[in-house]
Amino acid sequence: MEQQEGVWSYSAVLMGSPILLKLFSHDPSLAARTFRLIKRYEDLFTVNRTPSQVMDVNLAAGQHPVVVSRPVFELIACAKAASLVRGGCFNLAIGPLVKRWRIGFRHDNAVPPADELAALLALTDPQKVILDEAAGSVYLALPGMEIDLGAIAKGYIADRVRDFLRREGVTQALINLGGNVHTIGAPQGGWGIGLKKPFSTTDALVGVIDVEDKSVVTSGTYERYFEANGKRYHHILNPATGYPLDNELDSVTVISTDSLDGDIWTTLLYGMGVEQGCQALRNKPDIEAIFITKDRRVVASSTRNVRFTLMDDSYVFTD
Ligand code: ADP
Ligand code: MG
Ligand code: MG
Repeated sequence: MEQQEGVWSYSAVLMGSPILLKLFSHDPSLAARTFRLIKRYEDLFTVNRTPSQVMDVNLAAGQHPVVVSRPVFELIACAKAASLVRGGCFNLAIGPLVKRWRIGFRHDNAVPPADELAALLALTDPQKVILDEAAGSVYLALPGMEIDLGAIAKGYIADRVRDFLRREGVTQALINLGGNVHTIGAPQGGWGIGLKKPFSTTDALVGVIDVEDKSVVTSGTYERYFEANGKRYHHILNPATGYPLDNELDSVTVISTDSLDGDIWTTLLYGMGVEQGCQALRNKPDIEAIFITKDRRVVASSTRNVRFTLMDDSYVFTD
């Protein structure tokens, strides 16, 4: 715990990342209850260890449906819907490929053989994730299929933390789940959320995003990756090829009311790229994106709810 100008910061390590909670009152018990809530949800969604309901679904692939709790069913249903969005690259059934690449988890990463990737691709059809609303069950139709909620679990959990804190009467708070920042209210002048400079070895920022009562989610290809044969392989996979997405982007940041939308859209937009992505957001007033491209452009899809201040002159900002 740390106190600075009336703001108390509490931290923990959960979901494999440092978690930070900023409150405007000294309330270690509230912080502890918040961290416990995060842990409970992590245990439902993780695919990295048992027991977890999503693991139960995966272990029963090709055998039988598994009845899951309501939050798990809802998140899977939402992930399946996102997987069917045209032009996006979200796929909840990407698990077998994620497990094979293991990017960001191991230190001896290597590019898997093409024939292995092709075989695993056949196990990633989102239509083969069968949901039974009445039974509340999920069935993976082929043996070897695996759901991976890694791209959206944090967003869902960030929203639940926001709801919990609001119910507790909190009117100003910042929740940082590592990649997912959620805010309640704002101190004077707004929350200044730093937008990291891709591949910077210091903590340099490209700019600052000022928001209130919004979620800010960043998906970057600069945090979890490895290099081989002079190429960079990062952790967002292209469900069409089985290889990491190869496009113009270094990162995508989405500003939205709900962090779950932020999570879904960062991944969708990664697949779409700047032009198609901005197009897709035209009739989504609640969702705004800031793209950082490899050629050092910072492009905002709109600036309705967002103020962005560029801090690094080697980038060019356009909206
Ligand atoms: P971060 O790990 O920085 O939060 P993301 O939110 O973009 O990054 O989530 C990346 C994770 O999503 C990967 O580690 C993997 O578990 C999963 N994933 C990778 N590719 C896809 C994809 N095409 N669709 C859905 N999930 C994916
Ligand atoms: Mg994420
Ligand atoms: Mg994401």
